[in-house]
Amino acid sequence: MSIPFLDLRTPHRELEGELVAAFRAALRDAAFVGGPAVETFEREFAAFTGTQQAVGVANGTDALRLAYLALGVRPGAEVISVSHTFIATTEAITQAGGRVRFVDIDPRTKTMDPGAARAAVSANTVGLVPVHLYGQPADLEPLLALARERGLWLVEDAAQAHGAIYRGKPVGSLGHLGCFSFYPGKNLGSLGEGGAVTGNDPRVTDLIRQLREHGQSSKYIHAREGYNARLHAIQAAFLSIKLKRLPQWNASRREVARWYQVALAGVGDLELPVEAPGRTHVYHLYVVQTPARDALRDHLTKQGIGVGLHYPQPLHLQEAYREMGLGPGSLPETERAAATCLSLPMFPGMTQAQVSRVAEAVRGFFGS
Ligand SMILES: *Cc1c(COP(=O)(O)O)cnc(C)c1O
Repeated sequence: MSIPFLDLRTPHRELEGELVAAFRAALRDAAFVGGPAVETFEREFAAFTGTQQAVGVANGTDALRLAYLALGVRPGAEVISVSHTFIATTEAITQAGGRVRFVDIDPRTKTMDPGAARAAVSANTVGLVPVHLYGQPADLEPLLALARERGLWLVEDAAQAHGAIYRGKPVGSLGHLGCFSFYPGKNLGSLGEGGAVTGNDPRVTDLIRQLREHGQSSKYIHAREGYNARLHAIQAAFLSIKLKRLPQWNASRREVARWYQVALAGVGDLELPVEAPGRTHVYHLYVVQTPARDALRDHLTKQGIGVGLHYPQPLHLQEAYREMGLGPGSLPETERAAATCLSLPMFPGMTQAQVSRVAEAVRGFFGS
């Protein structure tokens, strides 16, 4: 039995009738970019995240870039984020005119270490960007306290965490803005590209609405220059259909994680993911750690089990950030996570038999 890393076919097969009907409606109405389908999805996604406003944009990277621009990044200003993430989090800082300042992660949760963030704040710092990595909320309370104390903004990169909860509040509702991606493999994925920014300050979200559409305040009236970063109407209609299933899909991911936790407890030197108290993890990815990562990856691949690495090379050691001059050893926990992480198959609807099969192969590798 081979097991895919991710099964995108089954959930879409189940929704095929509804998705095709939404496509037909878009054809009939000839509303392709913006319009009522986008407004409807924005209302639904704001309600889902417990925020006043959601602004649909073209992808998650645009969500981040427009969020940073709307909150303000004066030239040369520093924005603190993590190196253990997808590069979109930080390339958007540079594109918004800021300078990236990398800090290390908490080794248990793999999210921003609040103590490291506090130590990194300087007179030049304007913002903090924690990432809710793998579906687990970052430790927002101390980070929000730091932001308040030092007059910084805080943007949540929630691209991997739709529906995750931090101390009773949905992610995307706690910081000044929340940024989401609807790339197909995310917990809520479009059938192409999409993203959203969530927030509670209408002045800021209105500015994002302008920025996503060439800085327009009304048709052909430009208060400023902006971007073409709009959400497609067809994707918004698809997203409305899929958003209704998201709670059930996230519950399924959490159940798969529980099966893994039981089946993999005490196996070899494997470290399993931890759900921190007060946080609801939505398991975008199920990431284990072992120093024997490369050999385990090869072993599972040979047995027909799909695996991934998130992420194999920390951003601060990438060619793209070479001029920062951060060598190996500068962010030890980040480097250890990169060297040891292995993402096992995880998707809604994964069966207990599939989890057992993966666990059996992992146990076989460790000879237990
Ligand atoms: C996917 C992702 C993004 C970027 O989203 P796109 O829609 O692909 O532009 C940003 N941050 C993180 C952590 C992601 O996983």
